[in-house]
Amino acid sequence: MKSAVGNGASRPGTGTPDPRVISILGATGSVGTSTVEVIAANPGQFAVEAVTAGSNAEGLAQLARSCGARYAAIADEAAYGDLKRALGGSGIEAAAGEAAVIEAARRPSDMVMAAIVGAAGLAPTMAAIERGAQVAFANKEVLVCAGPLVMARLGETGAVLLPVDSEHNAIFQVYSGRRDDIHRLILTASGGPFRSATREQMAAATPETALKHPVWSMGAKISIDSATMMNKGLEVIEAAYLFDMPEPQVDVLVHPQSIVHSLVEYKDGSILAQLGSPDMRTPIAHALAWPERISSGAERLDLAAMSSLSFEAPDEVRFPALRLARQSLKAGGGAPTVLNAANEMAVAAFLERRIGFLEIAAVVEETLGRAALPQVLTIDDVIALDREARQVASGVIADGLTRRAV
Ligand code: NAD
Ligand code: MG
Repeated sequence: MKSAVGNGASRPGTGTPDPRVISILGATGSVGTSTVEVIAANPGQFAVEAVTAGSNAEGLAQLARSCGARYAAIADEAAYGDLKRALGGSGIEAAAGEAAVIEAARRPSDMVMAAIVGAAGLAPTMAAIERGAQVAFANKEVLVCAGPLVMARLGETGAVLLPVDSEHNAIFQVYSGRRDDIHRLILTASGGPFRSATREQMAAATPETALKHPVWSMGAKISIDSATMMNKGLEVIEAAYLFDMPEPQVDVLVHPQSIVHSLVEYKDGSILAQLGSPDMRTPIAHALAWPERISSGAERLDLAAMSSLSFEAPDEVRFPALRLARQSLKAGGGAPTVLNAANEMAVAAFLERRIGFLEIAAVVEETLGRAALPQVLTIDDVIALDREARQVASGVIADGLTRRAV
């Protein structure tokens, strides 16, 4: 599993005098702020080099000051003035624009936390990989839209991906390192807020009801992805690339309590699982300290207090996003790139109340049908296809509006 273990680069261990230097991409988000909490819970063990955000200058400046970063980059160029003002007198360098975010990943550090949401994280994550950094990897859309290219570059640059997505982190923790011994990977899914809902009930979903995740507290995009179960579809693709597993060997099991974070079934019938409270600080702490352990601040699991753990098969009829993700993975080439781009556009349209909940998967399916699906041989190919697919998806969304208006 070169993805996760990579070249086995050593890291300063817990208790060593040198703090581990880390840059955090998407620092103001849900994973980003949890990362800052884990760092704060382990004083003296980490030093923050750079932090980045999309457009929240005030939040970024506050965070940069609190974690003692040296460089703060905001993607939105219009926010530069605000960021500079908010950092006044701190000595922290302010920068803005996409290139500034990429520069944050490029600056020397031991590790980069990739926690931007969406394909917007592709170029910055690649910048970290290109310089052979260890990448704590949360930004799953990067692997969905460019998996084979990203994985190939790891081998060439010596960079390492340490999975932060809780399911992939769980698999990483129980993975023997011998791919041929594995019968299948089993990703658990909470099932989201509409786990037991009918299609009719889902049709009436609003952003407010869809954002209310029963177990996890997360950013808006992944919360909607959890409600459609596209999140699990993206994770099947992420797992297939990360652990070099063919699609049929990556299974999904609905587990509403989100205590068992994923499982690996070996060819002798043994199943190994990783358990923990549903708190992202645990997989984040695991990735930040790997191969050692640090405290995470997450609540300890009290199994005796738990009445039951339940499991059920996923329903690809009520949740067509899962089927679409599997089909895209099987089709390969540009299909996962298009799936991801269309989904990002559809989720944004749903959050802006321009389309209904069930239309999210419909927009993705229609975009996959309409878009060209060329092979993607370079990251530039991926970026170009991502852009084209967004245009096609916009057209699909606009057509839908026209249809409803008639
Ligand atoms: P979020 O929306 O809370 O935060 C996203 C971060 O990215 C913010 O800092 C935001 O400012 C930044 N950002 C947004 N658009 C940007 C752009 N165009 N350019 C640069 N930066 C931009 O998202 P999140 O929930 O923290 O999720 C981050 C990633 O981690 C996603 O890929 C998600 O799928 C994955 N993930 C999240 C969780 C979770 O619990 N939240 C769990 C597993 C995986
Ligand atoms: Mg996950």
